[in-house]
This record gives sequence, C-alpha cells and structure tokens, in this order.
Amino acid sequence: MIHAMSLIAASIFLRDAAEVDDALRRAVTAVSDGAGLVEWRVDALAETEAGRNVIAVLVQQSPAPCIVTCRSVSEGGSFTGDLVDYAQVLESVAAGPLPRYLDVELAAWLGEGRVREVVAQAVVQAQPDGDMGVLLSSHAVEGRPADLLQRVEVMSGQADAAVIKLVWTARSIRDNLEAIDLLSERRKPMIALCMGPLGLMSRVLAPKYGGLLTFAAQTSSSSTAPGQPTIHELRDCYRFDQIGRETQLLGVVGWPIGHSRSPQLHNAGFQETGFDGVLIPLPVPPEYEHFKASMSALVDHPHLGFRGASVTLPHKEHLIRFVEESGGRVEEQAARVGAANTLIVGAAGALVCLNTDVPAVVDALCSGMGIEQAELRGRRVVVFGAGGVARAAVGGLCMAGARVVVINRTHQRAQDLVEDLRQRLALDEEVLAVGAAEQLTGQDHQIFINCTSVGMAGGPDPAGSPLPENLPLDDGSTVFDTVYTPVRTPLMTDAAARGARVIPGTEMFLRQAAMQFEAWTGQEAPPSVFREAL
Ligand code: NAP
Repeated sequence: MIHAMSLIAASIFLRDAAEVDDALRRAVTAVSDGAGLVEWRVDALAETEAGRNVIAVLVQQSPAPCIVTCRSVSEGGSFTGDLVDYAQVLESVAAGPLPRYLDVELAAWLGEGRVREVVAQAVVQAQPDGDMGVLLSSHAVEGRPADLLQRVEVMSGQADAAVIKLVWTARSIRDNLEAIDLLSERRKPMIALCMGPLGLMSRVLAPKYGGLLTFAAQTSSSSTAPGQPTIHELRDCYRFDQIGRETQLLGVVGWPIGHSRSPQLHNAGFQETGFDGVLIPLPVPPEYEHFKASMSALVDHPHLGFRGASVTLPHKEHLIRFVEESGGRVEEQAARVGAANTLIVGAAGALVCLNTDVPAVVDALCSGMGIEQAELRGRRVVVFGAGGVARAAVGGLCMAGARVVVINRTHQRAQDLVEDLRQRLALDEEVLAVGAAEQLTGQDHQIFINCTSVGMAGGPDPAGSPLPENLPLDDGSTVFDTVYTPVRTPLMTDAAARGARVIPGTEMFLRQAAMQFEAWTGQEAPPSVFREAL
C-alpha cells in the first residue's frame, strides 16, 4: 500500500472571468492558511469563451500546485455542456500552462473518445519535465452508487489515470467506513470522500488511510460541496496535520449534532496532552436501530481504532441498551438513572458506558455554592424540565440526599420522570415529587436548576426564563442554569438582578467533558485549555 502525506486542497469556484483577481487572492490566503493544493472549479467559467480564456491565468498564477476541475451538473457541478463541449474545455485547458492535476470525469472518459485523446496528448506534452496527472473522478450526489466497486475496478485499471477519486453523498456514517476501506485497499493514489453532513468523518480521516487529499473551503460560505469543512476547522479543530495511521477515533453522537462544542474541547485537550486521537461529530438518526447499527459498525471495524464517544440527545438511553445487548458493562450511576453519556471502547473491544452528567451537575452546584456534597442532604431543590439533563440532575441530587421537586411544561413528562426515578432509586414522595410553578413560594426552596432549553440561543425560547416573575429570591437563593449557550442566559441575568447566586451551565459542561476526557485518555483534562476552547 502506498502511504503519503495527505494534503488539504482549497477548492475555489469562480462564477465568471471578473472574479479571477479575487479568486487568486483567496487562493493565496488559503495557501497561507495551510492548503497544499488549489482546486480551480471552472465549471461556470467553462460556459463562456471569456471564462475559458482566463483558466490559463489561474493555472499560471496559482500560488500552489493546482487541480483544474470542470464539474458537470450530473456530478453535482454547474457545467451544462454535453460530452463534446466537455472535451473542448479539456482541450483548451491542455493548450495552456498545465495544472498538476486535470480532473476528468469517469463518465466522459469512458463515453467520449475525444476526451481520452485530448488528455493523452496533454500528458505527452507535459513530459518529460512537466508532471501533469489525470485525476479520474466519479461523483454520486444521490448516495452510494450501486456499482461503486465496479467503478473502482474500472478506474484503478486506467493506466493513464494518476489518481482516482470517488465521492458520494453519505446516507449514514457507515458510508464513511466504506470510503476508508477503499483507501485502505487502493492500488494507486486515491481520493475517497463522502459528501453531506454525514460525510465529515471521511474528510477528516483521509490522512489516517493515506488519501491523497481532502477538500476544504476557505470560509464556511464558500464551500464547493455539501459538508466540506473549512481549512481552519480541519487544521485547528480536527488537527488534520497530526492525524496518522495510529490516530484513534472518538465521536460525539447525537441528532442533530452540528451545534456541539465537544469537538473543540476534546481536540484541544488531545493537542495539549499529546493524545493521538481526534473527536468528530457523528450524526445518528433518532431511532435505536440507527444507533445500534452505527455503533456496531464503528466498534467492529478492524482498522478504525474507535475508542469511544460522547453520546447526547436522543441516544442517552439507547447507549445503555446497546452496551447491555453487547455484553458490556454499565457503570453504577448510569444504570441507576437509566441514561449514559459516555462510551468507552476497550483495547479488545470491551464496552463500558457511564454517565458523567450526574456527578458534573452535583459538583458544579456544590462548588458554585461553596459547600461539600454531604451538605446537599435534606436541601430542597426545584428542577425545571423533564428531559435528558433533568434526569441526570434529579437523579444526581436525589442520590446526594436532596429533596427535589420537578416542574415541567408538559406535566405528564414530569410525572413519568419522577415515577421512573422513584422506582429506580427507591425514593418516596417526600424526596421526589412533581410540582407546579404557581405553587412556588421562595421560602420552601432555595436552589433552582433550569434543565429546560428555555434561554438557549437558537432554541425554542432564547429570550425566556423558566423562573416565575413574582418568586422572591435573595442572597440565600441559588439559581443554576444548565443552558450554556450563551454563557450568560436571560435567567442568570434575571436571577442575579434579584439578588441570587448564579451558576452558569458551562460549569457543568466543562466537568462532564473533563470526566469523559479522563475516561478515554487516562489523562487529566487540561482545565485552562478546556475553558478557552468553550
Ligand atoms: P430535552 O430532553 O429535549 O428536554 C427539553 C426540556 O425543555 C423539556 O423539559 C421541555 O419541556 C423543555 N422545554 C423546551 N422548550 C420549552 C419551552 N418553550 N418552554 C418550557 N419548557 C420547554 O433536552 P435536554 O437534553 O434535557 O437539554 C435541555 C437543555 O440543557 C439544553 O437546551 C441545553 O441548553 C442544556 N444542556 C446543558 C448541558 C451542560 O452540560 N450544561 C448538557 C446538555 C444540555 P417539554 O417536556 O414540555 O417539552
């Protein structure tokens, strides 16, 4: 197997000839940001003579070796011409200064004899001192093509192709594993990537499997394919330059998962501690079947080095079920509250799951109040919300001996949570009950914890606060908002103005993440790096 360093190719699309100067400037910036190649996407330029005439300028003045790509509509690009037109475009490119790679679509290569003729001439012309290579490419926008393996076979057998490129839209994270397998088994330099929000893993892991390159955009608004990361994301968040054969994979699993800060935090921690790993968002649709299929595929893959995952909404209960069904171990606190947020995959594939939200919420509360955990015993706490975070908070507080009242918009959901936790933790009504906001007096309770999404930026009610307006608070009251985006929520501002002590959700988030980090790496999480990355 050939193993070479993978490059970042900055993909730059031009709408018309007037954009040449700007495109060249963007390329210079991309190269200084770390791109080793520039892909000139000339599909729109190729539609007009004026556009075709400036392709030579792009190649000539490219600040790094370049690929010239004219992507047809049928393969996800914008070039509308037929195969004869396509051949003419390649001919005009071949007549000018030659790029390092000339992208040639497989369909045109096989379907139009003129294409192969033009390309063969250009390759000969590039010899002996030029080094232009044909990058034979195939793109399937709809999803994995049924004849993927035949395509690989045909493409690998084309003597004139220096590189072969296979791209398709990922329908599940398992598509990425197939891309990885293609790279592992390649017979010549290869690019194998998945497009779309589910394809990030194949883009980030290209260096682990010796993929020739991964494409990146200069800014998130300038990406030339769905799911393409930016150069900054690849290098700064996913540590692209450090990824190698031995790099272990971790994930943050949820649906949706794009908003998660876990990659920033953990990858910064890996960088700081020298742990050879990368954590990537792994979107998995809500149903258990999807979760089980995705997790099994990751755990069982022989060359992936999947070390574990942070698991979030809506899979925290699924994680326990999956680990139990796989014969793994569910740690005590997770088993007691019926939800887990961390998967650890041992060296021999043994699975363990735990819940770091539970100790994190209790610890964040106690340290915010300046008390020992034992001092929570008998304290009266109001928890707003009855979802996943509420389960961890209520479970943790009850296990620490607090008396908890749960208030939720949907009363039945609060009822279900309370009944379930009462049964699991063998608690009576005195310790855990359902309440209503109208009944709060402020005298009975001094600790209030928001576990709803109210106040979360981008959530259902970003300007709202779950605290009743007339509830009296004073300096003996504590208000803990588990929402952590923004760091200072409307609830915190409101509670602080009413004299209460406030604890931000970041305190919980950082603690649960630090415990996950330690569980995976065996090393202490670097606190200042975590805080900075948040
Ligand atoms: P979840 O399971 O979806 O639960 C959402 C809760 O918010 C439910 O109780 C829901 O009430 C309530 N809610 C939603 N919209 C509401 C509205 N407009 N008015 C009143 N109540 C509303 O979510 P989760 O996983 O528990 O997460 C909840 C929040 O915790 C997240 O938004 C996030 O900001 C925060 N969080 C913090 C951390 C941390 O470490 N600090 C970690 C994860 C999440 P219904 O039952 O009536 O729908």
